Amino acid sequence: MMTRIAPLRTFAILLLVVPLTNRAGDYTPITVDMRLEQITPDVYYVQGAAGVATDNQGFVSNSGFVITRDGVVVFDALGTPALAHALLKLIRARTDQPIRRVYTSHYHADHVYGLQVFKEAGASVHAPLGAGDYLASEIAVERLEERRFSLDPWVDENTYLVPPDEIISHSSSFELGGKRFTISYQGKAHSDGDMMMLVEPDLVLFSGDLIFEGRIPFIGNGDTRHWLETLERLETTGLRALVPGHGPASFEPAATLSLTREYLAFLRDSLGRGVEELMSFDEIYAATDWSRFAHFPAFDAGNRINAYQVYLSLESEMLGQ
Ligand SMILES: [Zn+2]
Repeated sequence: MMTRIAPLRTFAILLLVVPLTNRAGDYTPITVDMRLEQITPDVYYVQGAAGVATDNQGFVSNSGFVITRDGVVVFDALGTPALAHALLKLIRARTDQPIRRVYTSHYHADHVYGLQVFKEAGASVHAPLGAGDYLASEIAVERLEERRFSLDPWVDENTYLVPPDEIISHSSSFELGGKRFTISYQGKAHSDGDMMMLVEPDLVLFSGDLIFEGRIPFIGNGDTRHWLETLERLETTGLRALVPGHGPASFEPAATLSLTREYLAFLRDSLGRGVEELMSFDEIYAATDWSRFAHFPAFDAGNRINAYQVYLSLESEMLGQ
């Protein structure tokens, strides 16, 4: 991968992944509430608030962990090192087993800025194909600079992006301490690369941002066509619980799945009709009845930009790009 990157870009990446000073473990404490929720005797998660990425000291996404007889597996690393440090303390209150692995559902700031804490605690980092694209992107550089400002002091000059130890490009399973973990790679759906983790025998699925609960999903540069196909294929029968990337864990996974699926389908249908009739974005947006989704948190902050992203991608799809 590195050979394809221009020298200047390589320098930018080095700045991103190397801490400027060595101050491991010294994180400004968070003052927001982070409560541990237990799903099964060995599976836990913390739930971020339903805000934009810089609300609530950056605690807007979920993270979970699984305790086995042979160590702990973490899923997603939260949006600041300070949050991850608080999560690590909650893990340590439950077990002194080593943190073996961290799986990241995808490389977006709200899920990976805490990786350095788990890496420094000895875990290996596992991420879907697409993480490399993110790490090499201008967006990654600009986002970190912006968050050092907007999430100061929880993101600072000692915050750095951790490149994965393993890139995952196909689905596989492994066993650890009496549990079976199935990592399913989903390709480019919500982001440049997404994956989920199923824990057995607990039958808990961590879906990352392929599924949002109780709020409007964030679309960003997602591929809504593939995302929707992924959700239509996803089998939830037999699951005990589903932990989405944002919002509360669900004990009715099929119903939870339907919010994200229906929202994506609605965006694609209503904007698609307008694009075919060569209407402008503003005309389509004004003519669409949004009442089905308008009461969900994050609607005001996110719906119009989501709709615009889908409009642009539908135009590209129509042109065969
Ligand atoms: Zn997210």
